[in-house]
Amino acid sequence: MTQFIGVIGYSLKHSVSPDFQQAALDYYKLDVRYEAWEVKAENLVSAINRLRQPQNLGANITVPYKETTLHLIDEVDDFASLVGAVNTVVNRDGKLMGFNTDAYGFLKALRDDARFEPENKRVVILGSGGAARAVGFALLQEKVSSLIIANRTLAKAESLAGSLAKYAANNKMNTEIAAMPWQSSKLTEAVGNCQLIVNCTSLGMKRSLYEEESPLASDSIPKDALIYDLVYNPSETPLLRMARGAGANTIGGLPMLVYQGAASFKLWTGREAPLDIMYSAAKQALLRTGG
Ligand code: NAP
Repeated sequence: MTQFIGVIGYSLKHSVSPDFQQAALDYYKLDVRYEAWEVKAENLVSAINRLRQPQNLGANITVPYKETTLHLIDEVDDFASLVGAVNTVVNRDGKLMGFNTDAYGFLKALRDDARFEPENKRVVILGSGGAARAVGFALLQEKVSSLIIANRTLAKAESLAGSLAKYAANNKMNTEIAAMPWQSSKLTEAVGNCQLIVNCTSLGMKRSLYEEESPLASDSIPKDALIYDLVYNPSETPLLRMARGAGANTIGGLPMLVYQGAASFKLWTGREAPLDIMYSAAKQALLRTGG
């Protein structure tokens, strides 16, 4: 019997997950199809329930359903509960288990590709959506020395900083945590003093209204910091172009995308993901879509 995995989101026009996940499944000659399941909000509950059917191994969950899905499944692992979002659902005999592999992907790319060790480092996170929450908790658990959260909607930055501070206090951590207003002088100062800046906003994303925009001005980018942009299409965003111009180290979102997908692949199939194959399939798919 052919089995199925899908990515559930809306819209999925530019998703490359089907390309690189199918390449990995084909590498192992598994009789499994990975499909794009574009689902409107009113159909989300039935789409999630369908995952319980025996032919379905599970799904990736993407924007805008990572938070809602958490409440529609049977069990959620500790890290996904902490973040408040699942990006991977696994069907175990009709029972749906939720995981968040974004943080794993983020940290693996940070260490293996950017060669950056986060412990005791000063960090600025730009954005406060689902990705920023995963990145924030991942960095906190890695014991960074400070975490500044800035977001266009300040209330969301304050809420994320509050959740992180509560976790830090409960776990007797010394990380300094603060929210700052978007494009404020306080933020410019914090950016100038930090060692890692992570863009978790969608600014710079291809085929969006903000394709040409950067969350930071070029003269505010410190040359000694690592600039990490989660946006993976295009491979060099306006922020990364400016950072390269300023002499800073940079990393884009593609390695994270592949690593989070690789962790999901292992959860569904129990097999080690063929990273090189996934990488080249993702790159080809991005080239095809003009990335
Ligand atoms: P999300 O929950 O929708 O959050 C979007 C964030 O971007 C919010 O903080 C939002 O601020 C901010 N934003 C949007 N438009 C903006 C603008 N014009 N000016 C300033 N800020 C703006 O999305 P998400 O899931 O966190 O994803 C964020 C980005 O990370 C996306 O580009 C996504 O593709 C990327 N991502 C990459 C990976 C990977 O594996 N590489 C994984 C996950 C996500 P407000 O709160 O003010 O609206």
